[in-house]
Amino acid sequence: MTHVKKIKVGINGYGTIGKRTATAVDQQDDMEIVGVTKTRPTYEAVVANNLGLPLYVPNDETAEEFKKAGIKVAGTIKDLYKKADIIVDCTPGDVAEAYKAEYAEAGVKGIFQGGEDHSLTGISFNASANYKESWGAQFSRIVSCNTTGLIRTLYPLDKKFKIKEVFATLVRRGADPNNSKSGPINAIEPSLKIPTHHGPDVQSIMPWLNIQTMAVKVPTTLMHLHTIVVRLEKEVTTEEVIALWKKTPRVRLVKGKNGIKSSAQIMELARDLGRSRGDMFEIIVWEDGVKAVGNTLYFYQAVHQESDVIPEIVDCIRSMCKMEEDSSRSMKKTDKAMGI
Ligand code: NAD
Repeated sequence: MTHVKKIKVGINGYGTIGKRTATAVDQQDDMEIVGVTKTRPTYEAVVANNLGLPLYVPNDETAEEFKKAGIKVAGTIKDLYKKADIIVDCTPGDVAEAYKAEYAEAGVKGIFQGGEDHSLTGISFNASANYKESWGAQFSRIVSCNTTGLIRTLYPLDKKFKIKEVFATLVRRGADPNNSKSGPINAIEPSLKIPTHHGPDVQSIMPWLNIQTMAVKVPTTLMHLHTIVVRLEKEVTTEEVIALWKKTPRVRLVKGKNGIKSSAQIMELARDLGRSRGDMFEIIVWEDGVKAVGNTLYFYQAVHQESDVIPEIVDCIRSMCKMEEDSSRSMKKTDKAMGI
């Protein structure tokens, strides 16, 4: 029997995206976690210890702090660079530029998240749309949760029916469920910079797409919801569009008439499906909320911001580390292991 070498993955920043990446990587048979980083000895560091994940910290001083708090430390982040083939950078904004220089110096690959600009890496990733662009790359970037959502439904539409233009309004969650600092908690806040950055972010993957976006923030933690109007090059029927999305990976159709009337029931569905952390990795489209009139298509979709990018991160690791040439084979492998 031949033993295939597993990709060694380090995770810098064990927060919302970092911990989910750790779970998903752990579920794959061609990659393994060699360590995660924490900057402070919080409960999440204790959990990482309990899960047996080797924990790396910024420097020797912080290592002492962790040890005093009774948390086991495997070394400093520089030690992690020596063990990893690739670092999935899940740090919040502002620090990625400095880390990119460190990864480059250490000779490890790096995947950044949607909080960073496309210009940081010059390559952005979505498994269906441009898997090959990250092939063997040293650095790539997973587009944001909202952008991933838009590309999941728009890319197959464009491929099959050719899109003329897209107008999307993003109703954004005020904060993630674990965040008690952000808001709004009793207001609706429009994004006054029009169009918002989401359209250009979609264009980092589909540069030819004519898309304009607006956004409002609302007091919920559960999901984002998009209302989307698409002008197509030709007339389509509602049924044709639904049939297309039914066979599109990582897009799930639900029906309001089956009781899924809001983001609340989608999250309940994810919990009922037994998903880790109650995550919904797919983009949810309301089948009974899709309507085609001539060449104009109207639909709603919901995005679980904490988790939709996670399978994309796994595929990006495979592309950058040249483990699987075929995007659909990688996606199938990822999704099967994650129970999608
Ligand atoms: P988070 O705040 O939940 O987690 C960030 C983690 O990084 C925390 O564990 C924090 O302690 C750690 N950290 C902070 N400063 C650090 C430093 N200097 N070095 C190493 N680690 C440090 O953030 P998140 O929501 O996981 O976001 C991470 C990235 O993913 C951002 O770019 C964000 O825009 C993007 N993203 C977030 C979401 C979402 O909805 N949460 C969705 C898609 C993409």
